[in-house]
Amino acid sequence: MRKIAIYGKGGIGKSTTTQNTVAGLAEMGKKVMVVGCDPKADSTRLLLGGLAQRSVLDTLREEGEEVDLADIRRGGFGGTWCVESGGPEPGVGCAGRGIITSINMLESLGAYEASEKLDYAFYDVLGDVVCGGFAMPIRDGKAEEIYIVCSGEMMAMYAANNICKGIRKYAESGTVRLGGLICNSRNVDNEKEMIQELAKMIGTQMIYFVPRDNDVQRAEINRKTVIEWNPEAPQAQHYRNLAQAIDGNQMFVVPNPLAIEQLEQLLLDFGLLAA
Ligand code: ADP
Ligand code: SF4
Ligand code: MG
Repeated sequence: MRKIAIYGKGGIGKSTTTQNTVAGLAEMGKKVMVVGCDPKADSTRLLLGGLAQRSVLDTLREEGEEVDLADIRRGGFGGTWCVESGGPEPGVGCAGRGIITSINMLESLGAYEASEKLDYAFYDVLGDVVCGGFAMPIRDGKAEEIYIVCSGEMMAMYAANNICKGIRKYAESGTVRLGGLICNSRNVDNEKEMIQELAKMIGTQMIYFVPRDNDVQRAEINRKTVIEWNPEAPQAQHYRNLAQAIDGNQMFVVPNPLAIEQLEQLLLDFGLLAA
């Protein structure tokens, strides 16, 4: 089983990209579990057709320790399993710790056992904050393979570079590796070339360039992934391509984060900052 975490700046498209890509993997016949690791608990709604899923932490609070797998895991599109970790009571407790509590609960209930025949577990992690809490899935070896969603917008690249610093810290002492950058386009000038260059400088690859397309919103309004909403849409094919690229990926590295000056120079070189 491959254990994959998706990181990236808030609003960059982690949850959308994860679910659409997972739909592509499900179409390929892969058995996938998606674990939402964002207190917003919106990581699985496209796979579940919009059904609100009670989070693991809410279930624990309401029902105590006597929890069944069926209470916290629902079946979604294409035979996927969907879980939302949820968050602590607002203002109380550490959200990162909550993620670990949820994953430990899934482990103890047997969600990762061989009998479940999982090919993939995907963790969709809130990514703005590069605190110890949100690094926990990496730190505790819960995720071994990381993809960072970014775009050619400066703050998205800045966040991606910061996340690389976090990965590097734990990669040196453990098994976690960076599998690549996913460019989720914001139609920035020279975006593809710039993210390819950023990836190269970090020592990784741009594993796929996902175009910006309003069909993503159209599918979302219908509470579906693009693949389920309109399998013929060009964007559906892009998500299938990304699923294939991840499935066939062989490039796993310890990233080399850039100095801020290098990042600014990259933006200058690609014509985004006035000299
Ligand atoms: P995150 O999980 O990183 O906070 P989301 O996945 O919730 O971000 O995405 C934020 C919004 O961006 C969503 O409403 C989604 O419809 C939109 N979006 C994401 N990717 C694309 C895309 N490739 N084309 C068009 N809209 C997109
Ligand atoms: Fe929040 Fe991170 Fe601090 Fe935990 S470590 S309380 S997730 S900021
Ligand atoms: Mg999200």
